[in-house]
Amino acid sequence: AGSASASTVRQVKLERESELRVEVANDTPLRLRLLTGTAEIFGTELPPEIWLNFPPRLKFAVFTWYGATIEMDGATELDYTADETPMVSYVNVHAILEGRRSRAKASSSNDYDSSQGPRVIVVGPTDSGKSTLSRMLLSWATKQGWKPTFVDLDNGQGSITCPGCIAATPIELPIDPVEGIPLDMPLVYFYGHTTPSNNVDLYKVLVKELARMLERQFTGNAESRAAGMVINTMGWIEGVGYELLLHAIDIFNANVILVLGQEKLWSMLKDVLKNKPNVDVVKLQKSGGVVSRNAKVRQKTRSYRIKEYFYGLVNDLSPHSNIANFSDLAVYRIGGGPQAPRSALPIGAEPAADPTRLVPVSVNRDLLHVILAVSFAKEPDEIISSNVAGFIYITDVDIQRKKITYLGPSAGDLPSKYLIVGTLTWLET
Ligand code: ATP
Repeated sequence: AGSASASTVRQVKLERESELRVEVANDTPLRLRLLTGTAEIFGTELPPEIWLNFPPRLKFAVFTWYGATIEMDGATELDYTADETPMVSYVNVHAILEGRRSRAKASSSNDYDSSQGPRVIVVGPTDSGKSTLSRMLLSWATKQGWKPTFVDLDNGQGSITCPGCIAATPIELPIDPVEGIPLDMPLVYFYGHTTPSNNVDLYKVLVKELARMLERQFTGNAESRAAGMVINTMGWIEGVGYELLLHAIDIFNANVILVLGQEKLWSMLKDVLKNKPNVDVVKLQKSGGVVSRNAKVRQKTRSYRIKEYFYGLVNDLSPHSNIANFSDLAVYRIGGGPQAPRSALPIGAEPAADPTRLVPVSVNRDLLHVILAVSFAKEPDEIISSNVAGFIYITDVDIQRKKITYLGPSAGDLPSKYLIVGTLTWLET
């Protein structure tokens, strides 16, 4: 043993309006701290002098408005400084949103429309920095004392909970650069697949349910109405993906549309929305720091997200292994299965699969390694419109004894016997 290895501590001086872009190594963490000046990570200020630990693979930028010195300790996959960033345009958007929030707050809360703060939706192709911009706008707003609502419609990656969901949560403090979005009390709807094309109708139904629920919450809460929301979307912007963006804009009554990194999408949206004077369609540049991720990396990230749900970011949670009888559970799949029996259709017609039909699923070995959502529904017919309490992971199915073993975030009985299955699986490594 001993500590003969050379110190890896190094300092980086950042000029005003520049950033240090870091990709943490794949298997070792990185320590970093702010030595002098001021700096932020995606909108959240760094505390002076305190070492922060960044887990392997994390990609981030330390940006400074007025200059800073950063100290790093540990290996990185990549780190470099960049003085060309779109941050000024981003913070200008923030200033406009602040104006809208203040006006909403000042107006009488009896006037439902004028007391509504900005409803921002961030759209753009994959890897344009949508999640990152959403994060900055949210963190900057909290710094000003607002509690905006974050809505994540990106069911592929998902920054609020497990992949395969759409979800919303109020943001009350600047988002921690390491921990991410707080998991306190998210409102989660389980879609069950990592791409919306699996069941577009179901995806739309869930977006509608989520919007309806938020609308109800806003009605009784003038403060969060005025703070508004920031809606992150997925990178699917062509064809049906584009239709889904229009659907989300409509359902959430979005009034600020931020288009990242694509002129064509911006002009299409501008054209479609030209008759809506209250809707701003804003074009923004993509940051050169955004790291592209291929399908394999995305698949891996999803897997890490699921692991994080059960075990925490740094193995700081201990999930519980529980056993249940088959008869204690009622598992459903949404969609698929013929809508009407063939005999009821005209000769030659194929029965169409009803995308929002509830199909009971029998418990068998097919459920091994599957992630199930635990619904808040009290009756089966409430399942589609209900949000979910959380997730379980099936680790064993014992056909003979009619028992399943599953991993859950806590011990004890499930909050409901109604479980939803999709195509989300996980192989614990
Ligand atoms: P998706 O296609 O999944 O919707 P996205 O458009 O939301 O992606 P982000 O998740 O915001 O893109 O960014 C992709 C990755 O790039 C993330 O890991 C993020 O932390 C990183 N990233 C974004 N901006 C920067 C930057 N300026 N410097 C370094 N890394 C960055």
